Amino acid sequence: MRENGGGTVLVWRLGVRLPRDDHPEACRCFTSHRQQIDCEHKIATNWHTGFSVQERAYSRRSAVRATEEHRSDWVAQREMETVVSRTALLIVDVQNDFCSGGALAVPEGEDVVPVINRLVELARQRDWPVIASRDDHPAESRHFADYGGTWPVHCVTGTEGAQFHPELDVEGVTEILKGTGPDDDGYSPFRGQIAGSGRDLESHLRENDVDTLLVTGLATDYCVRASVLDALANGHQVYLVEDAIRAVDVQPGDGQRAIDEMTKAGAQTITSDQARGL
Ligand SMILES: [Zn+2]
Repeated sequence: MRENGGGTVLVWRLGVRLPRDDHPEACRCFTSHRQQIDCEHKIATNWHTGFSVQERAYSRRSAVRATEEHRSDWVAQREMETVVSRTALLIVDVQNDFCSGGALAVPEGEDVVPVINRLVELARQRDWPVIASRDDHPAESRHFADYGGTWPVHCVTGTEGAQFHPELDVEGVTEILKGTGPDDDGYSPFRGQIAGSGRDLESHLRENDVDTLLVTGLATDYCVRASVLDALANGHQVYLVEDAIRAVDVQPGDGQRAIDEMTKAGAQTITSDQARGL
């Protein structure tokens, strides 16, 4: 629906009222279904404002498909109608060794568990995929100080320390194992494999039409940081849930510096309460 002179464009398919662009009268946007497609492009390039992040993500992916595949307008429109963009919850390394009493305990690491569990519940309600990564190191790894690396021995395959925190709700989640090779630091789950299948995380996200990630877990200044930077590099929209992460802080301020770096790279910080508004 179009209104002349500073009105609004109503995109029926999205069901969202958007600010109207100031098109010339002869603009091709004013003809039949072409209007919707061009409006999608403007959403993608942020010409419109005032729409929610979820809608923007939906539209960006639709526009990319419509343009990249050089389809006719009609086919492009039909395809856009079938594309669904989704949010996923990523839980990074909430394992015993990173919690109190563990081999590489993150201060207050276990405090993220109830916050994340509430987000898992939210994800189930919204049908968001949930992915949980685990460090899963061999006993001899160059990741460890004993073998030329940085860290004390932690999260060795088959040990209690490598298991998820017992109160973390991981029922039905997709599990990513990382750091499994003897030379592999495994900071980012994007460099790991899905347990059992050996497939990679990015393929899994694409297959599930995920383009927005809520990132939580341990530790802010290492594996969370690596996860967020890889997700952004892969083109995802990233929300860093600030009350669902904790830092190692080897040097005081490392956690805050990592947050600054992630936000500078394009991540947005939100609280777990705000995540309910996505
Ligand atoms: Zn590790």
